[in-house]
Amino acid sequence: MLPLPPFERLAPSTLAEVVALLEQHGDDAAVIAGGTDLLPNMKQGLLAPRRLVSVARVASLRGVQVKREAGVIRVGAMTTLDAVTRDPSLSSAARALVEAARAVGGPHHRRMGTLGGNLCLDTRCRYYNQSHFWRSALGFCLKKDGSECHVVRGGRRCVAAASNDCAAAVIALGATLGLLGPAGPRELSARDFYTADGVRNVALRPGELVTHVDVPVVEGRASAYEKLRLRGAIDFPLLSVAARADVTGGVIRDLDVVVSALAARPRRVRGAALGVGAAAADLPIDSIAEAALAECAPLANVDGDVAWRREMVPVLVTRALGRLFAGG
Ligand SMILES: Cc1cc2nc3c(=O)[nH]c(=O)nc-3n(C[C@H](O)[C@H](O)[C@H](O)COP(=O)(O)OP(=O)(O)OC[C@H]3O[C@@H](n4cnc5c(N)ncnc54)[C@H](O)[C@@H]3O)c2cc1C
Ligand code: SF4
Repeated sequence: MLPLPPFERLAPSTLAEVVALLEQHGDDAAVIAGGTDLLPNMKQGLLAPRRLVSVARVASLRGVQVKREAGVIRVGAMTTLDAVTRDPSLSSAARALVEAARAVGGPHHRRMGTLGGNLCLDTRCRYYNQSHFWRSALGFCLKKDGSECHVVRGGRRCVAAASNDCAAAVIALGATLGLLGPAGPRELSARDFYTADGVRNVALRPGELVTHVDVPVVEGRASAYEKLRLRGAIDFPLLSVAARADVTGGVIRDLDVVVSALAARPRRVRGAALGVGAAAADLPIDSIAEAALAECAPLANVDGDVAWRREMVPVLVTRALGRLFAGG
């Protein structure tokens, strides 16, 4: 059993207090939501914040609200993944997000784990998510305490994998993240929230947190999520695909396919454009799957044979696209 390092837990009840505490304590503090990822990472010595600022008591961060005038469904960052899977408005307007949330960990992780925590999840790597003893035997790595990458020999940038199931889904759905920090609130498209830097792959500024996610409600929208993992539960993705199509009069006017768990940034497949203008009943699934295979190259950053993960790219894309219009 790995012990937790000592820390002070701060539990403010308003967003203003959360922001003030994060600003006051700077790098000494971290946000904690459900704690299902942060605490195991602290046990492994991956980080050791002296203060954890809990957002669990901030009521305004919880819940799912349909905002008709804005044409969005707003999901508070502190909403549990379990609540996301059970929300009827999300299951009709944002099936990919519901399926992604349902694919996270096991029931306990989904009851404790939150959407905000999932979207801000640290990247993962087989050479990083290990105990201090294990990492020290290897001489550490670029992401923490070391100077080389064991995935890309001679590489100068960490390519640890975005391993959060919901990231690909919110990107494919064209969601917008609400952020709040010392400089006030701002909005950022989910497409711009992730960077290619595996050390820190989210575009949060110092002292900033995610307050909510706005998922657009679009007439004629269909979406789906597919995940590759060894076991049917608990496991992080070895590969994941979210697909979303907007259809008018039987014709696809917009299509997005996002592949994740490749490297630090989920990848929007350019070849998805091949489906725009096609009849929904005649979607060129094989061509889009081939384009995804050409564009996506999994790295040896997480478990699972790389060649197998690569071969599964077109398989998952085919499954996700094939389910978009299943059942009419
Ligand atoms: C055995 C096991 C299996 C798992 N399987 C999966 C899986 O299959 N798929 C998957 O995606 N995840 C998995 N997880 C990880 C985790 O359970 C989920 O990602 C969960 O959604 C994280 O949410 P949380 O609220 O617990 O986040 P926390 O652990 O509280 O926080 C995670 C990170 O996000 C930051 N953070 C939290 N909330 C905010 C916010 N509002 N604004 C800014 N930063 C914030 C924290 O500072 C921390 O860096 C697994 C974890 C374990 C232990
Ligand atoms: S990708 Fe390289 S630098 Fe990043 S965590 Fe893995 S081994 Fe370390």
